[in-house]
Amino acid sequence: MSNRTRNSRLAALEQRIAEQDQELARMRDEIARARDREFPSMRRTAQCPGCGGRRLLHVTQPTELSHAGPTPVAMQHTVSFWGTPRSYGPIEHFVCRACFLVESYVVDLDGLEPDGTKIRAIDPPPEAQASGGPFR
Ligand SMILES: [Zn+2]
Repeated sequence: MSNRTRNSRLAALEQRIAEQDQELARMRDEIARARDREFPSMRRTAQCPGCGGRRLLHVTQPTELSHAGPTPVAMQHTVSFWGTPRSYGPIEHFVCRACFLVESYVVDLDGLEPDGTKIRAIDPPPEAQASGGPFR
């Protein structure tokens, strides 16, 4: 291989590395922007988005008081014809022990059906679903 050919190949490789470095920097910027758009939840980050505190409580099964005694906090409660209570959509909380901010989640949606009144479904417009955008 001649020196001229070797220098030409070396220049081409240097050009490719420079282009890949630019692409890498572009992708790093894109990742940083995507991270900024994420909701800084206590569940995900174990840090309070309000005050930055890291001393939290994870209340996995909060209760409320009903006539039957302590009852799991849930999105909906029903009582059957026979008087058997049922809960749907149990809740969990994350609480900041510094500023008392509370973040709540439904643990599962089993049996929790939209009825159009007390529970209304909100869906993205069809074009957002087709694009696979942020409203999945
Ligand atoms: Zn806090």
